Amino acid sequence: MVIVGAGVVGLLAAVECARRGFAVTLFEQGPIPNPRAASFDQHRVVRTLHLGDAEATASAAGLPGRWRDLELVLGAALFRATGVLAVLPPEEAHANLDLLRAAGVAAELVPPARLPERLPLLRVPAGAAGLHEVDGGILLASRVLVAAAKWLAGQPLVRLRPHHRVVALNPDAGAVRMADGSVAAGDLLFVATGAWSSRLLGDAAPAPTRLYRQSMLYRRTSPRRQAAWAATPVVLLRCGPHAGAWLLPPGAGTDLKLSTSEVCRPADRVGSARTAPVWRRTLERLLHGLVTDADPAAIISTKDCYYLADRVTGGALFARVGSPSSPTLAYPACGGGGFKTAPLIAGEVAQAAADPRMGVPGSHRVRVAAS
Ligand SMILES: Cc1cc2nc3c(=O)[nH]c(=O)nc-3n(C[C@H](O)[C@H](O)[C@H](O)COP(=O)(O)OP(=O)(O)OC[C@H]3O[C@@H](n4cnc5c(N)ncnc54)[C@H](O)[C@@H]3O)c2cc1C
Repeated sequence: MVIVGAGVVGLLAAVECARRGFAVTLFEQGPIPNPRAASFDQHRVVRTLHLGDAEATASAAGLPGRWRDLELVLGAALFRATGVLAVLPPEEAHANLDLLRAAGVAAELVPPARLPERLPLLRVPAGAAGLHEVDGGILLASRVLVAAAKWLAGQPLVRLRPHHRVVALNPDAGAVRMADGSVAAGDLLFVATGAWSSRLLGDAAPAPTRLYRQSMLYRRTSPRRQAAWAATPVVLLRCGPHAGAWLLPPGAGTDLKLSTSEVCRPADRVGSARTAPVWRRTLERLLHGLVTDADPAAIISTKDCYYLADRVTGGALFARVGSPSSPTLAYPACGGGGFKTAPLIAGEVAQAAADPRMGVPGSHRVRVAAS
């Protein structure tokens, strides 16, 4: 089979297919892994709760376990079990606790009176409650890519082709054409080109998508402050002056990272990763408003990242491309939560590899991926 794109989705699909005995050729426009990929970052969050959405929550319930299994396959530590805590109005915290429990996920409520002592390094809104997902945490994203690439490089059935940009597709033939004019085809073709997908798929795109650009702020904390942060989970703020913000605590060699929906905006093309001063200032205000640990040795940096979302659901899209019996699948939109669900997509691709023209429904929207 042929896979285009070596972000987390393409790499894990290749791993899963190779494990099931399929020969795989993986084309990537840059190096493998590529620092320009959306997946190439210090961390991504894995959590189960999708606020108020029982179906999406239930389908995300096994994700932390899937990632632990992958750690064993790839032989690398990829997951930090920090827990994930949503800060909510108390009535919403109760309703969503029921939703997590119905999905069989370990969770606990932190009442408003105890929230400040649970998050001593943050300013939390008065009267808010916490909903703590015990098994959620942080995926060490770029380490995932490096570990998967290393594992694949050692597999006799796998051919990695970095610096091969695909410029055209023939979905019904399962074929791709490279920038140098060469052609490749497979029994199954899987297009996993992230934010570049709308450009490559063009009219073959199975549904309309929208491109987003989001800025993130990183704060490198001095080693002596690490202990203070060790007990802090990932925090998602859903009420108060910083509603829409999220913060990942530092640890395991990674920085504190934060962002907010305020700095997520539509974009017309995948451009640079540089953050314009206006968005950086918004994030610096958030840092100073939210974090009480004023570490004088801290170093701040920022980065922009791009993703496509299904225009209708705001989430991910995994679909057959071309005629109903074409051997081509694509993941043209990842939504805001497409890293954590990559093992699910990889499983579906590997299943389709067994019967390329039958394995996957004509087109379906992946419910779990909207964040
Ligand atoms: C700010 C931000 C925060 C996020 N937070 C989370 C989170 O906490 N949890 C979570 O689960 N998800 C999160 N996501 C989403 C997640 O990062 C993405 O869904 C995921 O990384 C997408 O992986 P991908 O493999 O589809 O795409 P990418 O990682 O972008 O990989 C696509 C690859 O295809 C290659 N490529 C493109 N075009 C071609 C071509 N023509 N020929 C050959 N190669 C090509 C690219 O070079 C790239 O390497 C976040 C996204 C953003 C932007």
